[in-house]
Amino acid sequence: MSDCIFCKITAKQIPSTVIYEDDDVLAFKDIHPAAPVHFLIVPKQHVATLADCTDAHAAVLGKMMLLAPKLAAEQGCGYVNDSATGTKGGFKTVFNTGPDGGQEVYHLHLHVLGGPQPWRGQR
Ligand code: 5GP
Ligand code: ZN
Repeated sequence: MSDCIFCKITAKQIPSTVIYEDDDVLAFKDIHPAAPVHFLIVPKQHVATLADCTDAHAAVLGKMMLLAPKLAAEQGCGYVNDSATGTKGGFKTVFNTGPDGGQEVYHLHLHVLGGPQPWRGQR
């Protein structure tokens, strides 16, 4: 989509702080972070919303979801469940869908928000 800002970011026509890239997805830091760690995971192939996804998107959606905890750990907000030290860390994962879901950019993206509380992270 020529007028889609996240298509321009995945095409490197607009700069972003990339934290992960492969053939299918790009992860980059949110320009207006709502938490100490806030990045977005997007498919390189344009699809507007989660509600527009079909069975053809199952693999890329799975990849996005499985990347979230890995990249969160790399970015310093991984979830730790250790028998010695207990549970700590953690993050929020959010897909906003449509106007009532608070979606502003109509290219599918998974928000990952984390870092030491307090932060509200209302994305
Ligand atoms: P939405 O409300 O659509 O779920 O979230 C869109 C997110 O994209 C917002 O958190 C916003 O800060 C982020 N965003 C919008 N434009 C840009 C941009 O040009 N670069 C980056 N890195 N993030 C953006
Ligand atoms: Zn797009």
